Amino acid sequence: MSEFDLVVVGAGIHGAGVAQAAAAAGSSVLLLEEREIAWGTSSRSSKLIHGGLRYLERANFGLVRESLRERKILLSIAPHLVSLVDFHIPVYRDTSRRPWQLRTGLSLYGMLAGFGKDAQFASLPRAEWSALDGLSTDGLQAVLRYKDGQTDDARLTRAVVQSAVEMGCSLRLGARWLSAQRENDVYNVSWSEGAVVHECTASAVVLAAGPWNSLLQGRCTPKGPMPQVELVGGTHIELEGPLVRGIYYVESPQDRRAVFVMPWRGHTLIGTTETPWSGAPEAVEPSAAEVEYLGLCLERYFPEHPSKFIAAWAGLRVLPKESASPFARSREVQFAVDNPDSVRRVAIYGGKLTGYRATALKVLERLGNAMPQRARKADTATLRLPDPN
Ligand SMILES: Cc1cc2nc3c(=O)[nH]c(=O)nc-3n(C[C@H](O)[C@H](O)[C@H](O)COP(=O)(O)OP(=O)(O)OC[C@H]3O[C@@H](n4cnc5c(N)ncnc54)[C@H](O)[C@@H]3O)c2cc1C
Repeated sequence: MSEFDLVVVGAGIHGAGVAQAAAAAGSSVLLLEEREIAWGTSSRSSKLIHGGLRYLERANFGLVRESLRERKILLSIAPHLVSLVDFHIPVYRDTSRRPWQLRTGLSLYGMLAGFGKDAQFASLPRAEWSALDGLSTDGLQAVLRYKDGQTDDARLTRAVVQSAVEMGCSLRLGARWLSAQRENDVYNVSWSEGAVVHECTASAVVLAAGPWNSLLQGRCTPKGPMPQVELVGGTHIELEGPLVRGIYYVESPQDRRAVFVMPWRGHTLIGTTETPWSGAPEAVEPSAAEVEYLGLCLERYFPEHPSKFIAAWAGLRVLPKESASPFARSREVQFAVDNPDSVRRVAIYGGKLTGYRATALKVLERLGNAMPQRARKADTATLRLPDPN
């Protein structure tokens, strides 16, 4: 039977990040993915590498600071995958936040980003409003512009997996993890590839199966505590017609939630919604009401934009189960471990694409000495990501 230092389940951004960080630390790693790399949430995000301006309203400074630090690292190790884009916040007569509030938020955002050119923002002169992709000027009072990051989430995930593989990680695609049983200091892990069941042992296991994690935890021994979480679907729609000036951060005319209108592969992407989902994670799909909600948003702010529909898709957020609306709940990553006194299994709940590298390091920190000490191969903060195949 083969032996690994670490088995990672799920090749979304978190599984990719943990596999890469462990391989960089010199560990032997097996990464199991049932479908394709980034098949789950990691190809259905808003594709932003950002600090999350709106988290400042909930005084979530730690998350914003960490995300902005990760943005800076990604811009330097993956300039071919992550770029800084102009973000515009139009303020209308009925916009809920006033220009002075947004300026205060953007000053704080810039401060948390460490000042510098990337952290600057400006109020756009009225004469420039007409150049903003046909943005409606009816009732427009101000437009604020700042910079944040955009990526191709699936490509970024593939690049991180490729980086892990280049450092020796074994990747199995079409490999469905079945169970993990702890016996003292070792886990017995089984998975299937087609009709064939495989087994290995590992010093540690990381469950990075995103919205599937609670199902997976139920198939582990010991079970360990499970965080109370809820799956919340987020829909994007893609419409014909380009945006050339960057990204627009608008408020839904229906309920004032933040919605992004973004350029995407020569077309326009609008998202997202937040609708609790209780079905199987792989079955998540946009509802007609969500598609209409996003379409109305585009109509309100870009009335001349061609609204020819190309596609719609949904992804699942894993959020803490609380009475607050999904929009107001923490985006902070949560970890569940098998035994707090001797951790050999960590499950990752929630989190951000942006913070995948920092999350991976926290996972390894929680595993502590569970894995044998090896000679380090690289530092993921400075290791350039490959151009994925
Ligand atoms: C609508 C939406 C928009 C978002 N926008 C942003 C954004 O703009 N910026 C940002 O930073 N974050 C964003 N996020 C958050 C971010 O996308 C997620 O935190 C991240 O993608 C989660 O990745 P993951 O690896 O945990 O899960 P996933 O990407 O879902 O990966 C889990 C993987 O596990 C695999 N798997 C499941 N079961 C098994 C099994 N039994 N055996 C083997 N493999 C298995 C699945 O096939 C899947 O590939 C957004 C999230 C949503 C939902």
